Amino acid sequence: MNFESIIRAGKADGATPSNRFVVGNFSKSTPGVSQGGAPSASEAAKVNTPDVSPEKFIAVYIHLPFCAVKCPFCDFYTRPNRHAEEAKAYTSALISEIKNYRAFGWSKPLRMTSIYFGGGTPSLTSTKDLESILRALRDEFEWDPHLEMTIEANPEDVTQEKAGRWKDLGINRVSLGVQALSDDDLKQLGRKGTAENNHLAWQILKKTAFKCLSVDLMFGLRNQTRDAWKETLQAILPWNAEHLSCYNLTIESKTRYWVDINQGKWVPPSDEIQADMFLEARKTLAQHGFKHYEISNYAKVGYESLHNSAYWNGQNYWGIGVAAHSLQRTQSTIRRFWKPKSLQTYVQKIHQLSHVIQDELLSPEKHLRERTMLCLRTSKGVHLASLANDLECEIPKDLVEMLERFKNEGFIEKQQENLILTAKGQLFSDSLFEAFV
Ligand code: SF4
Repeated sequence: MNFESIIRAGKADGATPSNRFVVGNFSKSTPGVSQGGAPSASEAAKVNTPDVSPEKFIAVYIHLPFCAVKCPFCDFYTRPNRHAEEAKAYTSALISEIKNYRAFGWSKPLRMTSIYFGGGTPSLTSTKDLESILRALRDEFEWDPHLEMTIEANPEDVTQEKAGRWKDLGINRVSLGVQALSDDDLKQLGRKGTAENNHLAWQILKKTAFKCLSVDLMFGLRNQTRDAWKETLQAILPWNAEHLSCYNLTIESKTRYWVDINQGKWVPPSDEIQADMFLEARKTLAQHGFKHYEISNYAKVGYESLHNSAYWNGQNYWGIGVAAHSLQRTQSTIRRFWKPKSLQTYVQKIHQLSHVIQDELLSPEKHLRERTMLCLRTSKGVHLASLANDLECEIPKDLVEMLERFKNEGFIEKQQENLILTAKGQLFSDSLFEAFV
């Protein structure tokens, strides 16, 4: 696993776009959402492909749900990585979905701007299976010359051989699920590896010279103090990552952590401590050349995640695989569709669309509200008039009033013509975003 792409929009969990561990709602009732600074599809169209309309650009997410163990804080749809036959059948189903792209509403020309192998634990998937999936995509679609291809990796799976094979396949970005740098924290999180494993994996990836390496860290861990988090941040800096994701651990309903906490076995750090941790990350990472380009994400200049930015920028995305979500905007409709949270159903019924697809048409106004929320996650914020113009709809009066209220309360501010979240707004983003839906 890791959490960088944990945006249910493109991933495998809920019905609305939402990040997994996110600072904002310290009452921990609702997951939040996120954005970035990479070119939008329309910007990309201007630069690279003037002959292709923006809706033909697509970000592709491939959900690989298998995990070695179930982590105590995780509520994602995952499967134990025990049955080779199941994995094989799943890869075939993914390829069927790709080959049947027309049935899912896609039409050519379709140009992929990013491919993201997320999970689950994609680093458990054999390179042979990854290769078959990529071959199917290559057979069907155009690849943007600047295509970003990411794999999420757990440190204990990284070997020199595997990293070399990933690079040969065209993977140019690895998102390493480090999460913590002390053995105690890793143990609490149910991770199989140690701090030393994390470091060794990082050295291998560095040596393999991927274009971009990202590290996932979590804060708000059991027994974690402000000083311990500060030490983690200081310790990660010499790794020279191009990208860092810092997620606030959220206690999700029905997870083992949730049960433990409800039984009084432990208490998470207070909201105040978690807020300080968030602000510490903002400060420390800014001092070391990272741009805080989205609530949970930091990047050196030019290394913002193109894939996640596609979600935040409203680009079309296709979540391939079990429980994955997609957004499909054509010249006349805006549609969201998703697959069931059952691997068995997905594999067996992939050819019977009515069994594997649920969808919903979004009105331009509803999409405007969602896009406003997504844009606010990013450092660029939202230019409401441009957004309304793009979607050819009026800006709802109640949305304007709500944003005005947030501004008066210090949650958002105006920078030139864009509205952006203040630090206070980022801390309470989940609560604020509840008002948008
Ligand atoms: S069970 Fe663990 S490794 Fe698997 S997706 Fe959840 S957090 Fe990631």
